[in-house]
Amino acid sequence: MTLDNITLITTSPQMTLDIGKALAALIRVGDLIGLEGDLGAGKTVLTQGIAEGLGAPEPATSPSFVIAHTYRGRIKLVHVDLYRLSSMQASELGLEDYLADSAGVVEWAERLTGLEPDLWIKFAFDAAETDKRRLALQAISPRGEILLTAVAQAPS
Ligand code: ADP
Ligand code: MG
Repeated sequence: MTLDNITLITTSPQMTLDIGKALAALIRVGDLIGLEGDLGAGKTVLTQGIAEGLGAPEPATSPSFVIAHTYRGRIKLVHVDLYRLSSMQASELGLEDYLADSAGVVEWAERLTGLEPDLWIKFAFDAAETDKRRLALQAISPRGEILLTAVAQAPS
């Protein structure tokens, strides 16, 4: 199923944080956001915005050594990073169990098998400017479409 797409241009880490905060305003238990893009593209920065927007007391950091971190804000957020793995079954991660009481964000989501995120965000560098990123958002489910609409309408 392919629903709406939008592309956002961010020109600073702060703008990417704010996109994360816009997502946090609507995110709920069971939502899964997949992030794809090369190292340094901004996946963790966006996740920090989501965690901060949810009111998590500690800043999000890349869970490269432990695969998953959990933040507790308005709702729980599980942050998965598959950077060190070539592929991972959602069931091996217990991701569906996490999603019973948390929302989820997965970095390197193209390596996740067995579970499709509601919203997919592909980060691309802009060759011309070091701080510019192109974020292609695609809703995969009706839930993803609601999240995408919220981000598209967020002030920038
Ligand atoms: P990833 O998790 O995708 O590997 P990070 O979020 O850890 O990437 O790092 C992104 C890096 O790029 C940070 O050092 C951040 O300050 C910088 N940066 C520069 N411009 C942007 C932008 N527009 N959005 C996000 N990060 C940016
Ligand atoms: Mg990262």
